[in-house]
Amino acid sequence: MIVVKVGGSAGIDYDAVCADLARRWKAGEKLILVHGGSGETNRVAEALGHPPRFVTSPSGYTSRFTDRQTLEIFEMVYCGKMNKGIVERLQRLGVNAVGLSGLDGRIFEGRHKDSVRIVEDGKTKILRGDHTGTVEKVNTDLIDLLLAGGYLPVLTPPASSYEGVAINVDGDRAAAALAVALKADALLLLSNVPGLLRAYPDESSLIREIPAADVESYLEFAQDRMKKKVLGAAEAVQGGVRRVIFGDARAGEPVSAALGGAGTVVS
Ligand code: ADP
Repeated sequence: MIVVKVGGSAGIDYDAVCADLARRWKAGEKLILVHGGSGETNRVAEALGHPPRFVTSPSGYTSRFTDRQTLEIFEMVYCGKMNKGIVERLQRLGVNAVGLSGLDGRIFEGRHKDSVRIVEDGKTKILRGDHTGTVEKVNTDLIDLLLAGGYLPVLTPPASSYEGVAINVDGDRAAAALAVALKADALLLLSNVPGLLRAYPDESSLIREIPAADVESYLEFAQDRMKKKVLGAAEAVQGGVRRVIFGDARAGEPVSAALGGAGTVVS
């Protein structure tokens, strides 16, 4: 089993990702796709007059402050436009894909964090009314049913809180939790960069290999949202996934290239 997470940043070629996935799926490989949608969510949120608000935690992690209205825009884009766009591409390629969010069947479950500590203008503040959380539990029953029926699952945040409230969760870490729960052979985290760069944005500074035991020490090279990918990779390898690859989804055959060792390989 291979879990492929494709991000939502500008430049990602979803046609290329879907074509590559479809070929491999038809050749008999078991695959699950998890996707993001941050770039498109930002555009739609601006257009709807509710622009995104990104906050930084005291430990330096950036996240989207998700009030109820933001959550609804997030769902429109992630579960609607992005998810159905990917399912449609796969269907056109002859793959019977099924798109679901983490709320459906409680595939992704975790604790709802209503308040977030942020640093703004050098001061630490608390913001309330946040609909975020972290995936702590993956309920695989529905996924097992789909795979047994020959369907390719296409999953996306939000997740469900233990009380059944929708929560915005990081897609990379959700994919990592899924890979652990399914005992996947590999987790691919595909985005619009060649992999983890030692000197971002210099693409010639690609880090080719990271020993599994040292992943967290590589957090120092990751800025803003790349940190979540490194954290997700650490969680996946600690959970028993043998290989995590940060790969490029901008062109070519992104899944095959990453599995072939292009990008940054954590093992
Ligand atoms: P996605 O939504 O596609 O999963 P994110 O925007 O969450 O991607 O994270 C990928 C982004 O992280 C890259 O587009 C890049 O701007 C940024 N980044 C920060 N530091 C690094 C780094 N050291 N190496 C590669 N990318 C980095």
